[in-house]
Amino acid sequence: MTTLPNDISAVIEADRAHVWHHLLQHKALETSDPRIIVKGDGMRVWDAGGREYLDAVSGGVWTVNVGYGRTSIADAVRDQLVELNYFAGSAGSIPAAKFAQKLISKMPGLARVYFANSGSEANEKVFKMVRQISAQHYGGGKSKILFRERDYHGTTLGTLAACGQPQRAAHYGPFPDGFVEVPHCLEYRAQWEGQDYGRRAADAIEEVILREGPDTVGLLCLEPVTAGGGVIVPPAGYWDRVQEICKKYNVLLHIDEVVCGMGRTGEWFGYQNFGIKPDFVTMAKGVASGYAAIACTVTTNAVFEKFKTAEDPLGYFRDISTFGGCTAGPAAALENLRIIEEEGLLENTRAMGARLMGNLRDLMARHSVIGDVRGCGLFAGAELVTDRTTKAPLDEATCARIVAETAARGVMIGVTNRSLPGFNNTLCLSPALIATCADIDAITDAMDGALSEVCG
Ligand code: PMP
Repeated sequence: MTTLPNDISAVIEADRAHVWHHLLQHKALETSDPRIIVKGDGMRVWDAGGREYLDAVSGGVWTVNVGYGRTSIADAVRDQLVELNYFAGSAGSIPAAKFAQKLISKMPGLARVYFANSGSEANEKVFKMVRQISAQHYGGGKSKILFRERDYHGTTLGTLAACGQPQRAAHYGPFPDGFVEVPHCLEYRAQWEGQDYGRRAADAIEEVILREGPDTVGLLCLEPVTAGGGVIVPPAGYWDRVQEICKKYNVLLHIDEVVCGMGRTGEWFGYQNFGIKPDFVTMAKGVASGYAAIACTVTTNAVFEKFKTAEDPLGYFRDISTFGGCTAGPAAALENLRIIEEEGLLENTRAMGARLMGNLRDLMARHSVIGDVRGCGLFAGAELVTDRTTKAPLDEATCARIVAETAARGVMIGVTNRSLPGFNNTLCLSPALIATCADIDAITDAMDGALSEVCG
């Protein structure tokens, strides 16, 4: 139990009356209370009813990488806020400079950090940079942006134009022009026959570039491991071929690390598992583990230098995010990074990730509703099907019951891609990087019980 605020029922009523929750069909709150989380500590959170949960989704959406209740991050933020909370425009700040230097030390080959507030924004910065490079260096050529089916890059109209999950973009168009989809690379739902699936899936990108015209294509934007699209780890051979193609057609490679960044996959960044040399990397969620809002767009000196055409009055990056000047973000991020480094959380993530995958494989052996398990580090998915031969997706309501039954056993898990036929229904796990063997086993034990209860 945790101590609840005295006015908790007034809080619930205020929430019910006035808060519009993210991702929620509010009709549901006509017959039940809103979910309000009141406290977190380590891997655990407590709700407004005082119930304790083991959080296997790091704050719901893969964010709280170092766990809850980190007083050293709170102290770092507090100290910075009383010194200087904010200054923006063209000025820098001490925590921003220190964090940028530390970050770049983990990202060989990259050189510059641009600060913003959200993953969507960090991705839009890349799209704007590419459009400006197109205008100022290619006479308007190389302006097209390729994105992949099933990937997600954000909630703004620009990033929804690059959305590979149709249900997220539905009703919100028209979108900006010049965004082109390439096929997904999930071998479990293979679109092509034969061996060497990774290479084949990457070849599909070349086919799109050739169809569009290489002179028109400036950027390829990919998640290193697709998150909300179903926890998709690209097959062997994929990334080598992707890089060959980018080089061949002079297409810049943007890796969206909003989910995978800051240790989630057992390396500092997801791309570092696959030997990728990106031109752009964006990150947000785990950068400060949710202790402050911060996002970064990181790029190479080669890209940065293109924005120094001083003879052109428009020859620099004319962009600002007001809250890119908040110092709380980099102060929190610096301490967050120190924690990951000094507590050996990358090593822990690799070890606990292996245990999690092993446990999920055991679950798959016992529950035929699990069609596939996938993952990298402490980032895993179990795709649910009604029949392993046809791979027909398990329906949304049953998936929701499994999640609810797991919560009833004290463990919060997630489910991706509801309402997307053929893409459906991957149970999603992303515990904090501090997870222990006991935590991992508790997560999969609760899932085991829930799967038995719901699916027999
Ligand atoms: N990219 C990826 C891969 C994401 O999963 C998300 C958010 N879930 C975003 C970008 C957008 O980030 P934000 O919600 O911070 O704008």
